[in-house]
Amino acid sequence: MSGSTLGAQLAPGGERIAMKPINTVTGTVIPEQLGTTLMHEHLPIGWAGWELDCAAPKFERKSALKNCVERLKEVRDLGLETFVDPCPMDIGRDVNFMAEAASASGVRIICATGLYKEDLGNTAYFKQRTIDDVASVYISEINKGVGDTGIKAGIIKCATGKRQITKYEEMCLRAAARAHKTTGAPITTHTEDGTMGREQLEIFASEGADLTRVIIGHSCGSSDLSYHAAMLDRGCILGFDRFGLDFLHPDKLRLAALIGLLGVGYENQLVLSHDTVACWLGRGLDVTPETAKLVANWTPTHVFKNIVPALKRAGVGEAKIRTMLVENPRRYFQN
Ligand SMILES: [Zn+2]
Repeated sequence: MSGSTLGAQLAPGGERIAMKPINTVTGTVIPEQLGTTLMHEHLPIGWAGWELDCAAPKFERKSALKNCVERLKEVRDLGLETFVDPCPMDIGRDVNFMAEAASASGVRIICATGLYKEDLGNTAYFKQRTIDDVASVYISEINKGVGDTGIKAGIIKCATGKRQITKYEEMCLRAAARAHKTTGAPITTHTEDGTMGREQLEIFASEGADLTRVIIGHSCGSSDLSYHAAMLDRGCILGFDRFGLDFLHPDKLRLAALIGLLGVGYENQLVLSHDTVACWLGRGLDVTPETAKLVANWTPTHVFKNIVPALKRAGVGEAKIRTMLVENPRRYFQN
């Protein structure tokens, strides 16, 4: 049913309740079917060029898949229904792997189109292309599928580095906005250390993107509430999506900012996740005994096991927690 709608209907409040189906790696769904959703997690990741490292441990696909399925089942048993893997196309994205993991685990997976930030992406080819060339690739991956897999992307990813947006990254942001306008797919971003989110929004706005369908990812990398409010007041969603990555920014500060924003009524614009990586292609993170302590909670179950209870202890009610885990993802994907 590509490009078709399921028939728009109006709820009693006038809200649209049916719309274009959402692409997942195992077929389409409607927003109401998404259920409890982690908005930013990864299965395999490999930095651009990983496949050239013949001295690295060989990627054992079968055992990696088994591990991923076990990991997904563990979080499914805590209530997870949908797992969004916004791996950009140039850092090891494997949509067949995702489809196999989704089928075997019973967790729905949504994959992305899009290119990563300049310093860690595979940039040489697209640097020489135009915004519309890049947008046409994203549109094709959403409407026709990734390569010849028939698996369609459901979300558009873009990324910027710390305190700067390079020319290449700006091209990718503009391409994402144009592909979003053409296809209706929402946008999710990577930001570094809680910087450049406002500038990302400015670029999206200048392209006429619907900012209510943009997640400024990794916004919990900063606990500066002025930074957060400036973005929220433009209508976007903020990703508090790196819980467990204490070596980048402590959970205590991520929680403090989140609880503050919930306390003043921004619950309709916040989503939760961890940005975990289930397996590394090539050589992965070098974890020292020191950093191991700081990633001990960096697993896809952490929100359910530790963050939700911490929110409840701080007086955040069930309704707001459900809003962040269920209603906001549903509304964000609704087109
Ligand atoms: Zn990520």
